[in-house]
Amino acid sequence: MKRLIRGGTVVTLDDADRVLEPGIVVFDDNIISYVGQPDGYTPTGDEEVLLAEDQVILPGLVNTHTHSCMALFRSSADDVPLGEWLPRYLYPMERQTTPDDLYWAAVLGCCEMLANGITTTADRFSHMSVQAEGIAATGIRAVLGATLTDARRDQQQADALALLDRWGTAPESRIRAALAPHATETCGPELLRWIRRIADERDAQIYIHLAQSREEVADVAAHHGIGGCARYLDRHGMLGPDVIAAHCVYVDDEEVDILARTGTRVAHCPVSNVKIEARMAPVPAMVRAGVVLGLGTDCAASNNGMDLFSEMKCAGLLNKLATGDPTFLQAARLLRLATTEAARVLGMDHLVGSLTVGKRADLIALDRDALHLAPWNDLYGTLVYAARGADVRHVFVDGRAIVLDRRLLSVDAAELAQRLTTIGARLRDLASRRR
Ligand SMILES: [Zn+2]
Repeated sequence: MKRLIRGGTVVTLDDADRVLEPGIVVFDDNIISYVGQPDGYTPTGDEEVLLAEDQVILPGLVNTHTHSCMALFRSSADDVPLGEWLPRYLYPMERQTTPDDLYWAAVLGCCEMLANGITTTADRFSHMSVQAEGIAATGIRAVLGATLTDARRDQQQADALALLDRWGTAPESRIRAALAPHATETCGPELLRWIRRIADERDAQIYIHLAQSREEVADVAAHHGIGGCARYLDRHGMLGPDVIAAHCVYVDDEEVDILARTGTRVAHCPVSNVKIEARMAPVPAMVRAGVVLGLGTDCAASNNGMDLFSEMKCAGLLNKLATGDPTFLQAARLLRLATTEAARVLGMDHLVGSLTVGKRADLIALDRDALHLAPWNDLYGTLVYAARGADVRHVFVDGRAIVLDRRLLSVDAAELAQRLTTIGARLRDLASRRR
């Protein structure tokens, strides 16, 4: 099927940074075949035309780190003391969930992301084989990992291999699998060596939490005698362009250089880091060193949603605060950290992240006419500092309409809401009986 979207303003984020006013985007099935001025395109007559003349067309946003199923725990562990978020709040709640709960929670999380204009996500959690079927059904593009830890190693290794067998690792697939060691304090050298071997054999990427908390750093020092979580991974051959490290809050200058030298990708999740750990990753040093960096929302339990528009704004504000420099991370760069550069983090910049002929047809359209966006004095500034996920009107992934006029087409929203109401009530009841 051929589809023609007639903008409005088309923000390509391509290599020439073209902005077309007006512009059109044409795609054949799932591949973009034309991006340009309307008069440069000769219609063939078989296009399905979507008029979006009062809208801004953008590439779909790319989320480099989250756990969509943790939408289930939104606003259930806010403002908690340092070091308590995971062990005292999240782990006990997670233990009460069934795989079926996680399936529906993952669908909820992906629907939230799609509604906010996120078309690609990197997601990792336990029971991922069950969740993956629900995530795939929402229509989102995703790279998925099944959590690996020393504690439940045998079962989790089997789960991880099953996920790789089911979905493969080709970036061209809308859903693909990767390996997902939990973090440096939960994965010992033997497990890391197994992960590196499987990653090389299967051409699978590795997604890991790195240096997220001060407890993690202390654990690695105590158990392995190494100062620094990134140094620990480097010693075991676990850094490289196929490794996507989320957070990197506690890395020193030398470790930043190690990340840059090895080509390790970093998922920067400023809202989650500040909310749980009250601390920012050393982004200025990473930028100086040339670390490949993209934005991630992390999960709704720590954010408390998955909206990359909000994350772009917060990333800008928090990094300006951290550096004392209001010129640091400007709007155009922030937009790239959620599109082209985020796609590079996931090893998908040849497929998504910009509106470029030959890439996958992942694009979103935002209303221009909301009062909180008027009068569009600066395009990038308005998109990054004023727009919200709720401004997204249409979403296409892989050429398929997933959201049209803010209506989700891939999932029965009423059934989803009913399922989540039931699951939420049961979990709250269990929690109240525990107290
Ligand atoms: Zn995470």
